Amino acid sequence: MQAGKGIPEPLRCDTPPTNRVESKLNPLDEAQGRQLWLPFPRGEPTVLPNDNDSDHIDVTVIGGGLAGTATSIHLVRAGLRVLCIEADIADTQPVGESLDWSAPDLLAVFGLSMDRLISEGLATWKRHVTLRLADGSTAHYVPGEWLGQPPFNLELRTLHVDRVQLNAAIRKIAVADGVRFLHDRVTRIETQGRAVTSVITEHGARIASRWYIDASGSSARLFPRTFNLSASDYGPHKVAIWSYFTVSESIEGTTLHAEGSCPAYMDWVWEIPIHANTISIGYVSTGEAIKALRATGHTTESIFRTQLDRFPRFRDLIQSSPIVSPSVTSYRCRVHSHIFGPNWLVAGEAAAMVDPMTSNGVTAALRHASEASALIIKYRQRACLPWLAAAMYSRRVQDVARFFNCGIEKVVYDAPVRNVIGIKTAGDVYTIPAWSLNNVYARVRPRGVISSLLIGLLLGLFRAAASVMHSFCKSEQAPCEAAG
Ligand SMILES: Cc1cc2nc3c(=O)[nH]c(=O)nc-3n(C[C@H](O)[C@H](O)[C@H](O)COP(=O)(O)OP(=O)(O)OC[C@H]3O[C@@H](n4cnc5c(N)ncnc54)[C@H](O)[C@@H]3O)c2cc1C
Repeated sequence: MQAGKGIPEPLRCDTPPTNRVESKLNPLDEAQGRQLWLPFPRGEPTVLPNDNDSDHIDVTVIGGGLAGTATSIHLVRAGLRVLCIEADIADTQPVGESLDWSAPDLLAVFGLSMDRLISEGLATWKRHVTLRLADGSTAHYVPGEWLGQPPFNLELRTLHVDRVQLNAAIRKIAVADGVRFLHDRVTRIETQGRAVTSVITEHGARIASRWYIDASGSSARLFPRTFNLSASDYGPHKVAIWSYFTVSESIEGTTLHAEGSCPAYMDWVWEIPIHANTISIGYVSTGEAIKALRATGHTTESIFRTQLDRFPRFRDLIQSSPIVSPSVTSYRCRVHSHIFGPNWLVAGEAAAMVDPMTSNGVTAALRHASEASALIIKYRQRACLPWLAAAMYSRRVQDVARFFNCGIEKVVYDAPVRNVIGIKTAGDVYTIPAWSLNNVYARVRPRGVISSLLIGLLLGLFRAAASVMHSFCKSEQAPCEAAG
């Protein structure tokens, strides 16, 4: 489904490169009084006049989530001066605990190797994914041993992470490397044509720099909204409700629990061991289904309890936990096009929200961070980003996210394919290309025009195959008994 218009105009490179922070109150200074993560230098004047000034900013990054912080670190390490603006320093409700097989290498560049994350208690090993149905039967999805041998030599392990601890560790690295953080909310983007000229914050600061990164996440999507960028939506609005439980022993690997009895659209529960004795459990369903339950008087907690109670694995756990107080969020898997302008790029979920079941969100955020920052670093001396290089970045972000979202929606969430081949086989049909192509992307590291277009073509072929399979199975009207 297409939303918005957003046909990109020819890029304008005549925007004056300003690098200033303006405000009556000097909110940056005020923010220091509110104990910022890292103080922005104090003092008058609030208008910073020239590039030699120590308060000069090269890049403004909006959003201090994983995508924004990782982008800031890459940029600051290349010698650029970076201000990262984050609205919620309390870091409420971080999610994204089950990593795919490409994420560890992207974390390792910040010094966060798998061994370090494990030894410091921020992570547990993930060697496979298990699908467990309500009748107790299971299917295991494990990367083949051969992938660990020459010539592939792929790491067959990945991680589950405690996101509160991981986010804190990454921010600590960012602060140590020299990223300056401002605790404030960007409320307005000032533009000139397709260029961003400054951003205005809730506390009245006007921040201007030569370059901008929007990493404000899937709900804010500041630049896509400002420039009315076109988008494709995948699947319905969804709601996730989750909480943490102490267990005597956790199950190794990520477990996905599902009913398995041919629902028209799949709902599911994740079980992720973030520590040896702590598991994250989350229920995902459509916004419509949750709304219908709320209309019958259910609270978030009662929905969560009722849904977990369907699975024998959680029955005792939920009954022995008198108070649960789960977190809740809603989202729509949405992929924007043309996520670039003369002096800006969009990264992370602000650019493309991939479904949580794919476990690709963290990898995507870290990849976008690496690729977007590389572009700005490479063209830092220019007045604007070259159109082709920025367009290729945009294409790669879009192609990968569309591939994951299309695959998971058409093969797993939606009924037709799942009902014909059974939910466990559907897991294989989705997982094998998804894991393989994600690895190919990690290996090839497409950056140029040819590699970007070739990988896009490959991803597009698999997307087309999923769509054809979906249409074919839909026309077959498979009986429900085939699933399971
Ligand atoms: C329910 C759920 C489960 C998930 N599970 C997984 C998983 O198992 N594995 C996986 O890999 N991924 C998962 N993901 C995805 C993953 O959490 C994200 O992709 C990842 O955290 C990167 O996010 P981000 O930095 O792009 O956005 P966010 O983490 O949303 O960061 C955006 C930041 O911008 C800030 N911000 C917003 N507006 C403004 C503003 N106006 N001014 C200043 N700051 C602003 C916000 O406070 C926030 O900190 C899941 C996502 C969801 C919703």
